[in-house]
Amino acid sequence: MRNTLVAGNWKLNGSKSSIAELLKGILVGMADDSVKPNTEVAVCAPYIYIPHVQEILDGTRIKFGSESISEHDSGAFTGEISGAMLSDFACEYAIVGHSERRTIFGEKDSDTANKFAAARKHGLKPILCVGELLEEREKEITEVVVARQLDAIIELEGVEALADGVIAYEPVWAIGTGMTASPQQAQDVHAFIRSKISALNKTVAEKVQILYGGSVNGANADELFAMPDIDGGLIGGAALKAEDFLAICRAGK
Ligand code: PEP
Repeated sequence: MRNTLVAGNWKLNGSKSSIAELLKGILVGMADDSVKPNTEVAVCAPYIYIPHVQEILDGTRIKFGSESISEHDSGAFTGEISGAMLSDFACEYAIVGHSERRTIFGEKDSDTANKFAAARKHGLKPILCVGELLEEREKEITEVVVARQLDAIIELEGVEALADGVIAYEPVWAIGTGMTASPQQAQDVHAFIRSKISALNKTVAEKVQILYGGSVNGANADELFAMPDIDGGLIGGAALKAEDFLAICRAGK
């Protein structure tokens, strides 16, 4: 039985004081054990606030990580942050291949695969985002797109590498739009991902957590997380308010 994971992605939001308030609100809300013991909770923060997050979350149940990572270890890469630097501040997770990195910043499948490798190399768990654009869903090529995004990792690192990370299926048309995939639409793609991995390695397929992301909120999380291949969520907008995030954390199986 896989644990549920609820991970927040704060994107380009927050300040020192708002982050302290948000995390304290989540910690207070979790103090009554209303979030099931088998639900893991994490937040992925803008790089500059990671030491601040580390200080607040030290010794608590909430894990943390970054929203991206450099594929490089060191050297002349101005503005980049390496896996070793993130590990130095006790990060556990690094999001790779978020659709905003792919579409706005032009990161290719190969860049995502290199970032996935960099995270693993430094003992971080990559949260690998995959998902189709609206026009790709309309053309009925969702599985082709998701398979291509997964294959980039499998070809570079081998299928076993997926067991060291987490996969997040995030249909791009559902991110920040309020247009959540239905539980069945999401389950169908999650089942496809798990069966694709299973064809190569059953143990990895059984182990890997596959999160759903795209307009998850307190009202729809229960139904989504109840699906057999949905192991939690990657949460954007609803991760910015303690009560909203807690409602999703409480929906864990
Ligand atoms: C995300 O950005 O990963 C995301 C899922 O955003 P939202 O929850 O706001 O749709």
